[in-house]
Amino acid sequence: MFPTRGYATKGPTSILEPFTFERREPGPQDVLIEILYCGICHSDIHQARDEWGGAIFPMVPGHEIVGRVTRVGSQVKRFKVGELAGVGCFVDSCRRCASCKAGLEQYCEGHVAWTYNGTEQDEKTPTYGGYSSQIVVDEHYTLKISPKLPLANVAPLLCAGITTYSPLRYFKVAPGQRVGVVGLGGLGHMAIKLAAAMGAEVTVFSTSKTKERDARRLGAHGFVVSLDPKNLDALADRFDFILDAVSAPHDVNAYLRLLRRDGVLTLVGAPPKPLEVHAFSLIPRRRTLAGSNIGGIRETQEMLDYCAEHKIASDVEVIPIQQVNEAYERTLKGDVRYRFVIDMKTL
Ligand code: NAP
Ligand code: ZN
Ligand code: ZN
Repeated sequence: MFPTRGYATKGPTSILEPFTFERREPGPQDVLIEILYCGICHSDIHQARDEWGGAIFPMVPGHEIVGRVTRVGSQVKRFKVGELAGVGCFVDSCRRCASCKAGLEQYCEGHVAWTYNGTEQDEKTPTYGGYSSQIVVDEHYTLKISPKLPLANVAPLLCAGITTYSPLRYFKVAPGQRVGVVGLGGLGHMAIKLAAAMGAEVTVFSTSKTKERDARRLGAHGFVVSLDPKNLDALADRFDFILDAVSAPHDVNAYLRLLRRDGVLTLVGAPPKPLEVHAFSLIPRRRTLAGSNIGGIRETQEMLDYCAEHKIASDVEVIPIQQVNEAYERTLKGDVRYRFVIDMKTL
């Protein structure tokens, strides 16, 4: 075991503060990664404040991690010391169930070791995330990072990128299709870039009038201020696919009604309270309401390679770790363009 520095919160109403904890010595299949950048996902805030229930404290959040390999175990094949590496939302899974075997570790039917606010496969040892100086991860749960894109901008791909890429692929979004993106935040801005790169005609639904110019710069063809229901009514029965990335309670029926026959609305946003769904938002056009959770290791690597090839990365505001609490407050107000990323040198 060796000591590691990070920032942790001690409880749902505490702030994040400096914290020292132990990481395991790298085993034969592990890589030790010096963390260079870590994004701030809204899920970090939900969990640090125990909004989803079952939180484990002290909690070191962070699952949008990029860094450099500083040590490798004796059996490691895919990484060498000095190479870039990435870690997303989980660091292990049961490896035996049908989902793990299908490369869909995020839907593991056994035990998933989430990168933080979880436990390792022994179901006892707590996991600590990326707001820290270093992390030890099995190479099979570690991603290859291309040096082609700026690293701070790549970090958010490890969650915001894959969470939006995976449902766009699964639901086969194709050139010419009409895609809606609800909520222009960290996930939303990646959804615009990715859906546009896949050839879709993208319309953004936002509560923030001031984001229109950005939405268009990111690749959106349309921008709708969602606060006025009349703006939505005009677009009924129009969309093939809608990705809903809103972090707070909102009326999902208003968006379901915008789907054409057999259209799909996928929730990736995870508001802490239940959403109300009207049967008649779904029935008349045989619409589907779906959900999607990040992506597996194989698909995350595919997304990273796709982004390197298409020069797609996140728009970020890089901050020193000392500003992490302020960054949480600003994220909650929608005051971030479009992802905060912590420069870990400042730790
Ligand atoms: P974020 O950067 O805070 O963006 C959320 C956006 O939602 C805001 O920018 C805002 O967009 C909109 N919004 C916020 N409050 C709203 C309200 N009261 N009514 C309507 N719209 C509102 O958050 P994020 O990091 O993108 O995460 C978004 C959600 O996805 C979170 O719940 C997070 O936990 C979840 N998530 C899920 C997965 C998964 O695997 N499914 C992975 C990562 C994150 P406008 O200003 O444009 O209205
Ligand atoms: Zn996340
Ligand atoms: Zn499994």
